[in-house]
Amino acid sequence: MTTCTGCSLLCEDIELALKTGAITQAKNLCRKGQGHFQALFTERTRPMIDGQEVSLDQAIGKAAEILKSAKLPLLYGWSNSTLEAQAVGIDLAKKLGATIDDTSSFCQGILMERVLTGKIPTCTLDDVRNYADTSVFWGADPSNSHPRHLSRFAYYPRGEKRQKSYEEERTCIAVDVRKSATARLCSNYYFRLAPGQDAEFIEAILAVLEGKIPKFGDKKRMIELGTILRKTEYGVIFPGLGMVYSLQEKMDLLETLVVKLNEITTFKVIPMVGHYNMRGFNQLLLDLTGFINRVSFKDGKASHGPENSVIAAAKRCDAALVIGSDPLCALPFATARALAKVPLIAIDPRRSLTTDAAKVVIPSAMYGLEAGGTAVRMDGVKIAFEPAIKSDLLSDEQVLTRIMEAI
Ligand code: SF4
Repeated sequence: MTTCTGCSLLCEDIELALKTGAITQAKNLCRKGQGHFQALFTERTRPMIDGQEVSLDQAIGKAAEILKSAKLPLLYGWSNSTLEAQAVGIDLAKKLGATIDDTSSFCQGILMERVLTGKIPTCTLDDVRNYADTSVFWGADPSNSHPRHLSRFAYYPRGEKRQKSYEEERTCIAVDVRKSATARLCSNYYFRLAPGQDAEFIEAILAVLEGKIPKFGDKKRMIELGTILRKTEYGVIFPGLGMVYSLQEKMDLLETLVVKLNEITTFKVIPMVGHYNMRGFNQLLLDLTGFINRVSFKDGKASHGPENSVIAAAKRCDAALVIGSDPLCALPFATARALAKVPLIAIDPRRSLTTDAAKVVIPSAMYGLEAGGTAVRMDGVKIAFEPAIKSDLLSDEQVLTRIMEAI
């Protein structure tokens, strides 16, 4: 069996048949996972310095030289690497006195911090399959972002206490700004919001749960929603980026809602993490430093703050190492431009805008297919996996260890 690293569900039941240059047969792999693994055969990176192909040793040596001479290095990415590679990365940051940050810094971090520190109750996806009768997808569209979420856990499977499954015992609710594929599936229980209205929507639910008339939305539908939530035996809210971006500093409202729901019944929260091991990095850094992201090891101790976010640190760093991420494509233009101006080291199995702009490119093995390790699923369950095929490429962990040794 192969584990798919295409999203944070880390499906462990994938059966693959491969021949040179293609996947010939795949069982249990969704279309997203298929695209993820198929990309293995296209646009692979080669060791490069200043756009010229070099040996792997030369690329690693140059990366070590750049990081060693930098006064304010930034290490960024991490969500597509295993726990083992992340641990070496954090050691490297300590050794360099560098700033380290990951993709959660501008997506689910604000919510993940509350889940990992116990402020918001959570559960595993196996609990969802066994017990959940109500799932609320809020600003999330798992049918596209995590295609097997509904079939493996939230809606279709039979579970210990949910033998009648979606036909009779499970309700899915979608709260979104558009009628996504998941919202279409939830049909009667789709609640459409305009962008930024999530806080008002929560206040309206709270009003209904307290027996008051809501001031927001269609009153009849809000009362109907309140009734479903009240009658729920085991509910789970799955917040996606839509909700997180909308709430931001009003995230306390979600906490208040979950507290209120738990006065009535049982409700948990599982953030819809995108990258396969973002939660792993957040947990690891939290265990080691007390912070889930945005950490600087300058002056030998860990400090945390918005000044250490990739967005802020990119503007002052004098060298950057990017691993398993494409910030030049994904981050705001000013951040991408700042990163492109400093000596940039990119470690990645595949070519991207960031590897194209990097001074040094170091190829790595793709986790799941070419390298094994351990990662943390979106619900906090640790998954260990072996590579599906043999590869001569170094894993992220091995590349980072070599850089550490060279420094
Ligand atoms: S749902 Fe995610 S982990 Fe599972 S096969 Fe699809 S992409 Fe891979």
